[in-house]
Amino acid sequence: MALEGLYVAGCWAILAFAAVTFPMLFWVTAPYGGRHARPGWGPTLPAKLGWVVMELPSPLCFALAFARGDHAGEALPLFFLGLYQLHYLQRTFVFPLLMRGRGKRNPFGPVVMAFVFNIVNGTINGFAVGEIATYGSAWLADPRFWIGTALFLAGYAANLHSDATLRGLRKPGESGYRIPHGGLFRWVSSPNYLGEIVEWTGWAIATWTFAGLAFAVFTFANLAPRAVSNHRWYQQEFPDYPKERCALVPGIW
Ligand code: NDP
Repeated sequence: MALEGLYVAGCWAILAFAAVTFPMLFWVTAPYGGRHARPGWGPTLPAKLGWVVMELPSPLCFALAFARGDHAGEALPLFFLGLYQLHYLQRTFVFPLLMRGRGKRNPFGPVVMAFVFNIVNGTINGFAVGEIATYGSAWLADPRFWIGTALFLAGYAANLHSDATLRGLRKPGESGYRIPHGGLFRWVSSPNYLGEIVEWTGWAIATWTFAGLAFAVFTFANLAPRAVSNHRWYQQEFPDYPKERCALVPGIW
């Protein structure tokens, strides 16, 4: 199969995975992260190491697939490379090192699944903007580019800020949970997920590629059910949890 055929197959694979993931995660909460971790999911590894291992293929495969593309030296593809790496270098090397919580471990299963997902997703997205798409200078005058980029950056900021708020709930070495306040936590329980979903929706719009669309759909399918699980968990754990707070979408859901 030609590379273009593999690319399309990869995009459909991500969409198929999203279609399975979305209903499944309402039924079984993914057992990573201390709050939803439970025994019976096989061997585990330290959470920080798990994050680096599972996220690493994303910036790496994106860069490799991008570099072999015909458009790799052009300004707009390079801009998209920068946006993608802005997120993924932070997620791979900074986020795990800053995480707080003593002795946290994650099971291998979700780490392996995320590792494989990131190989496919990083590769198709790098190939999409480095090879498949052609961005002439007209793309700079297209509202999709500006709206998508603005959404990406707004989502990125919301994600970073919300993750930092959660981190600030623990002193170094602590492992417990508290009710987060401030920022977008005023309205929703998982603004870090909301930011991530907005971010990759922006990516899909700005790059206007099949791979970008597949990744945005998957991000929603993966994080929306988890936001519902987190919201229920907060309500069960904290009797004084703010009643007006929604799970993911302010005022709606
Ligand atoms: P969580 O919000 O579950 O946890 C983030 C960190 O904050 C963890 O270290 C967690 O500790 C800690 N934490 C969470 N809630 C509290 C609290 N109430 N009090 C104290 N500490 C708390 O996020 P995830 O681990 O699910 O995801 C981390 C990041 O990765 C997010 O930015 C998310 O958007 C992104 N992500 C993206 C995905 C995608 O499909 N694109 C998929 C999964 C994650 P502990 O681990 O001990 O619970």
